[in-house]
Amino acid sequence: MTNAPLILIVEDDLEILRVLQASLEAGGYRLAVAGSLAEGLVEAQSRQPDLVLLDLGLPDGDGLTLIPRLRQFSRAPILVLSARGREEDKIAALDLGADDFVPKPFSAGELHARIRAGLRRIREAAQVEDLYRFGKVEVDLAGRTVRRDGIEVHLTPTEFKLLATLIENRGKVLTHRFLLNVVWGPQNLDQAQYLRVYLKQLRQKLEADPARPKFLKTETGIGYRFSSAEI
Ligand code: CA
Repeated sequence: MTNAPLILIVEDDLEILRVLQASLEAGGYRLAVAGSLAEGLVEAQSRQPDLVLLDLGLPDGDGLTLIPRLRQFSRAPILVLSARGREEDKIAALDLGADDFVPKPFSAGELHARIRAGLRRIREAAQVEDLYRFGKVEVDLAGRTVRRDGIEVHLTPTEFKLLATLIENRGKVLTHRFLLNVVWGPQNLDQAQYLRVYLKQLRQKLEADPARPKFLKTETGIGYRFSSAEI
């Protein structure tokens, strides 16, 4: 068990903490626990966790403020624990460098799936790869070509850039603002309709059922996620 991933839980609500601990221990993870921002920072520095679960309402301040501090020394995925419907919190957390969020109240299945996705993303990010496959699609990120069922699919440069950005950050929720900045530049941060149009085009070209995409997922009110597996 010593090689099991170490998860740091930063959460002050003991009831929630108890549920998380039971579920994650059953899942075979090693755990570190902190009940405040200050403890969270110390634990993250001393234990170097593989993943962080972060509550936003902590006794010594807003969990959001911990994200940029963690990012100064750690690339571990940060999953924010957030109440459903708090879209502005989620967007702020993602823009600060969090990877994903786990809605409260938890479903164990969703919690574990999101943790696995975060850990997998970090492992895959360490591997340089030019060719990426999903479904019947093969994307040559270096050669900038896309094939579906072996036949080349024409993508515009903007479509390709958007697809490549999603694939390079797969598993991670990317906010509208992040994608607009990367693909269209900082002068277009409020043009969310560009994303709707281009995602629709990409789904039509690449998804088996564009109305029910398996890979190019919408995170309603927040942004988009390239899903490489179960969520
Ligand atoms: Ca709390």
